[in-house]
Amino acid sequence: MALSNLASEISRRRTFAIISHPDAGKTTLTERLLRAGGAIQLAGNVRAKGERRRTRSDWMGIERDRGISVVTSVMTFEYGGCIFNLLDTPGHEDFSEDTYRTLTAVDSAVMVIDAAKGIEARTLKLFEICRLRDIPIITFVNKMDREAQDPFALMEEVSQALALDTAPATWPIGRASNFVGTYDLRAREVHVSVPLEQSDPRMIALGEELELVQAALPEWNRESFDAGHLTPVYFGSAMREIGVTDLLDALVSFGPQPRAQATDGRVVQADEPTMTALIFKIQANMDPNHRDRMAFARVCSGQLTRGMRVKHVRSGKQFALHTPQFFFARDRQLAEEAYAGDVVGIPNHGTLRIGDTLTEGEELRFTGVPHFAPEILRRVRLDDAMKAKKLRQALQELAEEGVVQLFRPQDGSPPIVGVVGTLQLDVLQARLAGEYGVGIGFESTPFSLARWVDGDKLRLANFVATNRTAMADDLDGDPVFLASSAFMMRRTAEMNAELRFVDIKQIG
Ligand code: GDP
Repeated sequence: MALSNLASEISRRRTFAIISHPDAGKTTLTERLLRAGGAIQLAGNVRAKGERRRTRSDWMGIERDRGISVVTSVMTFEYGGCIFNLLDTPGHEDFSEDTYRTLTAVDSAVMVIDAAKGIEARTLKLFEICRLRDIPIITFVNKMDREAQDPFALMEEVSQALALDTAPATWPIGRASNFVGTYDLRAREVHVSVPLEQSDPRMIALGEELELVQAALPEWNRESFDAGHLTPVYFGSAMREIGVTDLLDALVSFGPQPRAQATDGRVVQADEPTMTALIFKIQANMDPNHRDRMAFARVCSGQLTRGMRVKHVRSGKQFALHTPQFFFARDRQLAEEAYAGDVVGIPNHGTLRIGDTLTEGEELRFTGVPHFAPEILRRVRLDDAMKAKKLRQALQELAEEGVVQLFRPQDGSPPIVGVVGTLQLDVLQARLAGEYGVGIGFESTPFSLARWVDGDKLRLANFVATNRTAMADDLDGDPVFLASSAFMMRRTAEMNAELRFVDIKQIG
């Protein structure tokens, strides 16, 4: 493919996530975005909640039951000449590791805020992850059709809570039940759902407020936005479909294009001619009828074509991409070609793991996909001893997917699972029962902390040998030290100062 063509395909990719506190309106906004981008596939309701209709993106029973999103999925749609890849992040904080990995695969984030509540705990946490990675953020103040805080106060709150400049991009016209639209500050256009006379009190109020806006609030600045220092603020109501196209138009006009990505060797530019991709998510049994295992790959550079043979860098083996797939709201489709920025699903039987790199032959590994040390450790108790083999395989698969972390004690005792939040244990139990027919319970372990141990080979071997009853291997066979308390962990680290005890492991 001609390079100019490649560059133009890549420049129209917009890959983003929505971050928000539960109930701020992420699901509703997602649905509206997909509906506005009707060209590829129409959305029904994205996710069932209460009485809402169930859809196929609603993969897991547990998600349905709890009304929370615990799977990360991708939805591709087209709008304004751009191809959007919207990555869904789990809403519950127990899935922060999954969320973190998803955010490694996006180029920008839309932060949805409830206009009455302002910045909430979960929003703040997700924002901090974005800041660590310098991901530019667009703010959408939702639910302006209800009683809301004053927009000036909201702007101030966002700016204070996040230590971020806020520049209004639109301004609300009318408030609460009289909210009818937005004024686009740069285009100087009124976008309203019903025609308004200039003499309408809402227009008069708008005129007065705009004077204040111009006098008091920072102006839009592209460089500050790209660097993650400034967020443009949009006002709207996802439910009443006000302000949604403002947001999409913003992503089209200045939403960041696919970014360069760091590897262990060099920085990979998105418009390089050869293809590279990063696996950031594994999802097993997405479709109960097919029992498949999907690796989600973000194409980081070049063009991916169906049937191409790629190098799987971790194993050094060739891997043929026979059936890469795009995901839409309610369907999937073979991806004949995909470009840097796109996210495709690659069905496989366990070869691909989180953090893996695919290239056209080059020996490089993308960095920045982490494992966090678990905060809760549990031993798995099997209900039916005849199912030990099945359990072993299921745990391996679910750990590869990132549902839990798996530690195999070196003294041969039963496996230990590690999680960041207890909801992950519920998900593990439900999925073992539902997808593998294996009933389990959990037992406490003598351990409460896990750290990866790293250092000089000989010293490490020595340490492992003398602490065998507290040593385990993780999924990759890397040594993990298990401690009964924070005190023990500190003491051990002090007594072995030449070794490193780390709580974040970089994979890939
Ligand atoms: P999520 O938990 O962030 O995905 O939030 P949802 O999209 O499920 O929305 C939570 C609740 O707020 C639901 O009852 C929605 O109908 C409601 N909601 C979402 N957007 C709006 C809005 O713009 N205005 C109003 N009044 N309600 C909204």
